[in-house]
Amino acid sequence: MDFLLSDPTFSMACKQFDRVAQFLDLPEKTQKIIKWPQRSLSVTFPVKMDDGKIKMFSGYRVQHHLALGPTKGGIRFDPDVTLGEISALAMWMSWKCALVGLPFGGAKGGVCCNPMEMSKKELEGLTRRYTQELIPFIGPQKDIPAPDIGTNEQIMAWMMDTYSMQVGYPVPGVVTGKPVTIGGSLGRREATGRGVAFLVKKAIEFLKISGPLRIIVQGFGNVGSVCAYQLVKEGAILVGVSDLTGALYNPKGIDYLRLVAYKEKTGRLSGFSGADEMDGVELLCQHCDVLIPAAKERVITEGIAEKLRCRILAEGANGPTTPEADSILEQRDDIFIIPDILCNSGGVIVSYFEWVQDMQSYFWSEAEVFNALCRILSGALNSVMQFSHQKKVSTRIAALSLGIKKVAEAKEMRGIFP
Ligand code: GLU
Repeated sequence: MDFLLSDPTFSMACKQFDRVAQFLDLPEKTQKIIKWPQRSLSVTFPVKMDDGKIKMFSGYRVQHHLALGPTKGGIRFDPDVTLGEISALAMWMSWKCALVGLPFGGAKGGVCCNPMEMSKKELEGLTRRYTQELIPFIGPQKDIPAPDIGTNEQIMAWMMDTYSMQVGYPVPGVVTGKPVTIGGSLGRREATGRGVAFLVKKAIEFLKISGPLRIIVQGFGNVGSVCAYQLVKEGAILVGVSDLTGALYNPKGIDYLRLVAYKEKTGRLSGFSGADEMDGVELLCQHCDVLIPAAKERVITEGIAEKLRCRILAEGANGPTTPEADSILEQRDDIFIIPDILCNSGGVIVSYFEWVQDMQSYFWSEAEVFNALCRILSGALNSVMQFSHQKKVSTRIAALSLGIKKVAEAKEMRGIFP
């Protein structure tokens, strides 16, 4: 298992864990047991491409721990997917679910592919074959996938259908983030972005920041775009936005609706007339009230941390800030961090609601979903702030400590089998 440490994302997750385990003074045996992923499945499978050729793909599903319930976490379709990255993301899902009090262990899956270059038919073939390979590993009481980077409701519908066809009856609870017509939850699609926006507003209140909020968003997918929409709707000014196609900056504000229409039409952000193009890294360092990294891991490095000019860093992505950058931010003390496992937890919280609704075949209104979401997020934010204040540690250490402590206690209580 040590080979996983050569992966930069996994080694980052371990560095965070080791620091918190030491801070919590966890017994060495508990540290060992909860650090490493409990189960990892690696699959290689063929897909018939539109040109008639067969292409082989590699995919993974990692279940980090099973101490608190079935495992839960998204499926990523992305060219950078590795077993190490997926293992790190599964570990973060464990701390996230525990922090917000969900009865799940953490999991993550992924296929190394570029969904942007694949047709709908090829994507369906890939999804169904990958799901087929996962069948013994997943299920509503075992492990419940959901969307992540490069996947969406349609992919979840194909996963649910493939699983259901195999067992012979519909099993909506095998995945979350499904279309509402087949057992999805109202509000699930918007949950992560709206959760980020909700926590940003709480942080603004706490820090007593006044005047229109200036925000910069990195990543304009499901998390970044929904969060920007929500904040702009409530009066914020979108001064910067970026994705893989480019970065845009306009200190006077970018017209959100025009930008969305432009992106829908052209498939990119670059070339938009209502803002100047800028280097993506430079954009992160522009003056703003809230910087929202909502793309991938390890984008806020040591060099960038020194140059950040935001008041709040709201981590919509998983693992956007490296431990080295964290040390700098801890010293600077002028940036309030809403750490990833809290900030983006709205997605998995509403996934939990979706799973509960599927198990009971009883569906909630959108208002019920959002009220329950806000209640959990408020409670988790308060616990993190209280811990951080009492123990004089950063909000990241506080959030990780609360999550890790809960998993450690469950493992210790259950003991070692046999
Ligand atoms: N992929 C999302 C995350 O990283 C959601 C996972 C889920 O809903 O299970 O939290």
